[in-house]
Amino acid sequence: MVESSRPRVHSLAIELTAHCNQQCAYCYNAWRAEGTTDHRQTSDPQSGEKLLARTRKLLASLDVGHLTLTGGEPLSTPHVWDLLELTSEQGIGAQIISNGSLVTKTIAKRLAHHQVRYVQVTLNGPTAALHGEHAGGEAYFEATLRGIRTLADQGVPIAGCMVVTHKNAGAVAETLDLWQSLGVAQIALSRFSPAGHAVAQAARLLPSRGDMIEAFDQALPFARDQGMRINATMPIPPCVMETEVYAPIGFGHCSIGTTMQEFALGPGGKLRNCTLHDRAIGGVSDILDPSVAVAELITDVEVTRYRSKIPEFCEDCLHAPSCGGGCGAAANWMLGDGPKRQPDPFLWQHIDDDFEARLAVQRSETVEHEGKK
Ligand code: SF4
Ligand code: SF4
Repeated sequence: MVESSRPRVHSLAIELTAHCNQQCAYCYNAWRAEGTTDHRQTSDPQSGEKLLARTRKLLASLDVGHLTLTGGEPLSTPHVWDLLELTSEQGIGAQIISNGSLVTKTIAKRLAHHQVRYVQVTLNGPTAALHGEHAGGEAYFEATLRGIRTLADQGVPIAGCMVVTHKNAGAVAETLDLWQSLGVAQIALSRFSPAGHAVAQAARLLPSRGDMIEAFDQALPFARDQGMRINATMPIPPCVMETEVYAPIGFGHCSIGTTMQEFALGPGGKLRNCTLHDRAIGGVSDILDPSVAVAELITDVEVTRYRSKIPEFCEDCLHAPSCGGGCGAAANWMLGDGPKRQPDPFLWQHIDDDFEARLAVQRSETVEHEGKK
């Protein structure tokens, strides 16, 4: 077998568009375009050509395992088909992260034709009220269920996701029941992690340790006794809770700087360490710039030395080399990024009185604001 001379990258997340037809409270996209369902706003030929050119440049410079097509809502733009043509042409696997509500029979048939690895769709509760509270409207619940059934009818593999928040942690079992009834057995339990747009929702949605214990207690029988493949897709620092007791639920750590890292390409052309990070690696604002060598960019110190930047709180911890303090992106967004950054807000809410007090103020302001509506 001939080995590629291009550096190996496990995965690349391509953010096709800033546009989304939903308004999810937990969305990390600080740049998302709100208030329209007109995808033509974000599908002008120039943005499509640039998106394709950037992706071609990445694929020419790197040996990419697979692409994750995301957004915004990737199915809201016709550019998704250009990228799927490209991945088919180059023999690279593609998976899609979608809210599912725009899926039609025609779209599902085209996805089946391109043999996407899977479409990941999120349900945040077993009812229209709970799902809608997270997604920005109750009507999205039926639309998403319809999308899931349409994908299944056309034989498109589906992965389920639930963003676990303070509001829905007690409804994990019922939501997994719903996924089971839809025939979906691979589930990502993604702990809410405040970044970008979602920072303003942290007080309302950030789950506590107790919330996550309840969530995993409810999920365990599905993984252990009913054959569901469940993974916790955001880090749970081992000092917050014992994760071993939840086997076979899978738990991971932040992948930045490891062979499993998923880089993110934004709609404007910035390459970032992951989707939740906002900084462009190397300060490069558009990788299309002919002077930018992508293969060098992914060995920038922001990538290779990322894991050595351990929060002061974690310095003496035995888990520090793997855990690194949890999600550094959420810590940056919520707590700043000084030379000695803080650990994950999920942990920090239980350690730091000032931070907990800040969340309590935000919480009371939200209640007051909602009371005045
Ligand atoms: S590295 Fe930090 S966040 Fe991770 S387990 Fe240790 S003390 Fe907790
Ligand atoms: S910084 Fe957070 S979101 Fe990004 S890869 Fe690490 S854990 Fe995941």
